[in-house]
Amino acid sequence: MINYLYQEKNWQSQLNDLISDPDELLALLNLSASELKSQQLLSQHAHQQFKLRVPRQFVTKMQTGNAYDPLFLQVFPHHLEMQDMDKQIKAGFSADPLGELEANTLPGMLHKYQSRILMTITGACAIHCRYCFRRHFPYQENLPKSKDWQAIAQYILDHPKINEIILSGGDPLSVSNEKLALWINRFEELPQIKTIRLHTRLPVVIPQRIDEDLIKILSTTRCKIIMVVHSNHGNELDANFDVAMRKLSEINVILFNQSVLLKGINDNFQTLTQLSYRLFDARVLPYYLHVLDKVQGASHFLITDAEAQTIYQALLKELSGYLVPKLVRESSGELHKTPLNIF
Ligand code: SF4
Repeated sequence: MINYLYQEKNWQSQLNDLISDPDELLALLNLSASELKSQQLLSQHAHQQFKLRVPRQFVTKMQTGNAYDPLFLQVFPHHLEMQDMDKQIKAGFSADPLGELEANTLPGMLHKYQSRILMTITGACAIHCRYCFRRHFPYQENLPKSKDWQAIAQYILDHPKINEIILSGGDPLSVSNEKLALWINRFEELPQIKTIRLHTRLPVVIPQRIDEDLIKILSTTRCKIIMVVHSNHGNELDANFDVAMRKLSEINVILFNQSVLLKGINDNFQTLTQLSYRLFDARVLPYYLHVLDKVQGASHFLITDAEAQTIYQALLKELSGYLVPKLVRESSGELHKTPLNIF
């Protein structure tokens, strides 16, 4: 069913009306703070450190009265995030689990892998995912400005192996179409750049973001466009998402999904199987299934490698090969993602 209430609302007004008050979220879901079990208690400290932020449309997909709803658990600031910080640190959880500050060569630019650079053109996201490995990232010092473009362009020219630009989180689709077009135009002026890849959660949480102006921008660039959406659970996807993906697929945007394996959210093969089928219905192929990056505040989402391997083996048996995402870990300083050894 299309959610017509939101189908008619433009994405900008939805972005300006996000829920940022935990009490409002609890009230909308008929959950009172006193009803939450000890595992779900709100942490004001966690909320202050990484604010609750969630679109109303996404909240309509959560089950009311269910404190274990897999979408709710992804956004609610838990007391577990701040618990046993010493233990978290000893277990390898840090503020910069992927060593990104090291790879932060120029403002807003990360160069980790040989053939591609990653740009954070904004620090803003429509949703704050509690497990986000960039939840402590110093975006404010890392927003590339127009005056930085010459240095970025020169860096790319000096590294002829770079042929792909990744626009990533913050969410690159949270900026205006004008700003996005400006960056795409800059990159396509460099002949060595063949592909522009957008990593985004916006088409999942506010599908109306895929508007006509964006379609025009993406259909007129000479570069190949890849969009990697980010969904962890089939309940996140609805008919509005299908409409958005159809529009993109009709202009030949290549559509992939990446997920993070999260305890209590999608740590079983049934949920992941359903997600793969649901994505495929919307013309999206499962790309990566990441094990959790060890960011401080997210330790309660961690499952062991052995558990991940067991889930993955079941997925392999259940699904056609093209529906099985690659199970990978990203490690600081590695020149590629590392597939988990599953046998
Ligand atoms: S960057 Fe992606 S994973 Fe991180 S908070 Fe934003 S939308 Fe969520």
